[in-house]
Amino acid sequence: MSETSGPGNLGHVAFLGLGHMGGPMAVNLVKAGYTVAGFDVVPAALDAARDHGVPTVATPAEAVNGADVVLTMFPGGQHVLSAYRGNGGQPGLLEVAAPDTMFLDCSTINVDEAREASALAVAAGHRAVDAPVSGGVVGAEAGTLTFMVGALPEDFDTVRPLLEVMGKRVVHCGDHGAGQAAKVCNNLILGVSMIAVSEAFVLGEKLGLTHQALFDVASAASGQCWALTTNCPVPGPVPTSPANRDYQPGFAGALMAKDLKLALNALQGTGVAARMGPLASEIYDTFAAEGGAGRDFSAIITDIRDKSAH
Ligand code: NAD
Repeated sequence: MSETSGPGNLGHVAFLGLGHMGGPMAVNLVKAGYTVAGFDVVPAALDAARDHGVPTVATPAEAVNGADVVLTMFPGGQHVLSAYRGNGGQPGLLEVAAPDTMFLDCSTINVDEAREASALAVAAGHRAVDAPVSGGVVGAEAGTLTFMVGALPEDFDTVRPLLEVMGKRVVHCGDHGAGQAAKVCNNLILGVSMIAVSEAFVLGEKLGLTHQALFDVASAASGQCWALTTNCPVPGPVPTSPANRDYQPGFAGALMAKDLKLALNALQGTGVAARMGPLASEIYDTFAAEGGAGRDFSAIITDIRDKSAH
């Protein structure tokens, strides 16, 4: 264990992946007194993190040196697995870390990849936790993320205080991979329900209903859901929803397309007789490819409206 002054027994954190989410998460750890060694392959991300007070280093090996926990916040599973294993002559993180290091991956990746990453870490003599998040960049900055955690019970207890610095809700979902499983199931519900809410609003328009009338009924009836009452895809009924600011994210269409692809992989891998999930994945793929990647995912309603008969 490190001799640093950070709180708890995971006081020294190697933080790899200082992007939109990782950058502010690392800042919150620094503010809470953790010793952080930050690293990113993109120099601009390193500079930004340093400007916000996160100490950075020049190589992954330097970050991992002396660390109690190796926290990764990468775009996808291939990044996690290749960083763990090493690539292009670079030694893997698993190899350079001291024995019994906690490998904590907070990226959103395939359930199978998460289980593989955990198995690799454990086989190399380490401990492993998958802890994907929801709450977006706003939650990362405010330290109000939700963590969905897949871990052995004793490892969950160990990482919990660290996660509580960056989040307001930390849920133990089960063994390795269970955090990703919970995340993918939740986002399957979210993607499908946003499409359903959007189709209903466009149908309401065609039938002469005002947005407010449909909202007033559905939000207090069986159509009630987060896509309607928090992220309402039409401007007006929920003043804080992205629809009121020309669909600035929020939760970007590219991320919904990515998460539904993970859901699709899991549905196919497990043989679930799903029809809505694959369709939602296809719909958000098209949305992202046709200009929706950087817009909030609720802008799917504009696609539905535009493609409807006039
Ligand atoms: P991002 O692309 O902004 O950040 C990822 C960072 O990882 C980049 O800076 C990249 O350079 C770095 N990186 C990649 N490979 C690396 C390596 N081997 N070593 C060091 N750094 C490396 O992405 P983000 O928006 O921060 O998202 C990170 C993860 O969180 C993703 O898996 C995403 O699906 C998930 N997530 C994002 C949001 C969101 O709103 N942005 C919400 C929930 C979950």
